[in-house]
Amino acid sequence: AIDMGHDLGRAVLDTRLLERERRLVAELQAVDRYRAQLVSTVAHELRTPLSAIVGHSELALDRDGLDAGTRDALTAVQRSAGRIDGLVRDLLALSRAGDPQAEVERLPVDLRAVVDDVHDLLGLAAAEQGVELVVEGDPAAVVPGDATLLDRVVQNLVGNAVKYSPGGGRVTVSLRRGGGEVALAVADEGIGIAADELDRLFGEFYRSGDPAARAQPGTGLGLAIVERIVARHGGRVTVTSQPGRGSTFTVHLPAAA
Ligand code: ADP
Repeated sequence: AIDMGHDLGRAVLDTRLLERERRLVAELQAVDRYRAQLVSTVAHELRTPLSAIVGHSELALDRDGLDAGTRDALTAVQRSAGRIDGLVRDLLALSRAGDPQAEVERLPVDLRAVVDDVHDLLGLAAAEQGVELVVEGDPAAVVPGDATLLDRVVQNLVGNAVKYSPGGGRVTVSLRRGGGEVALAVADEGIGIAADELDRLFGEFYRSGDPAARAQPGTGLGLAIVERIVARHGGRVTVTSQPGRGSTFTVHLPAAA
């Protein structure tokens, strides 16, 4: 009888603890939803005044007879506005990719076509920086997904590979099929990443402490966006790197049936 009473007491305690845990989880989820909503609202609100700043400074720069000082000032305004615009776009992309209610399409996406598009988009700028952008591997790697989002993934990874290769070199994007998945690897010969930083790279706003990395502009949101989009597609991202030698980011996605 004593044992039964003891068990009963434990059961009541367990139920209470479980209830408390459930309430805490619900509260945390509510805070998280609020945070995501706040970020998205602020980003949306910033877009309109920002386009006014960009538009008006462009118009002003087009005027004849501007003195050099005014021209420099307007150019600086434009450059700064452009930076904020990049940040705002990243924040919106991040909140969209992280929103469980936002729809992610499941149409057949030819990753080779996505990679070729990104090559067309970034190849020239890369070449100007002394970076050769090379595409290789499977010509028909199809995954079910959202082409716009997957395009963003490839753009962010290739963009980083070029950006963090200040000394030039080669950036190789390769596609492989096998084991029911498609692996898209972006390998560079750039500055590399210290081993103890590898697991933090995908956090929101994380930027490396390495001065060589800090020398490049960035928001620390690019890889967070990549990881969220890939997760929404049922995939994962891995990274290997050798400081001073280069890095390889690999996206693994379930292949189309
Ligand atoms: P950022 O806007 O700073 O580039 P990301 O989220 O895209 O933000 O990347 C986070 C950090 O990871 C970068 O600040 C950089 O330190 C490091 N990183 C990302 N890609 C590379 C790469 N290809 N080579 C070296 N470092 C990289």
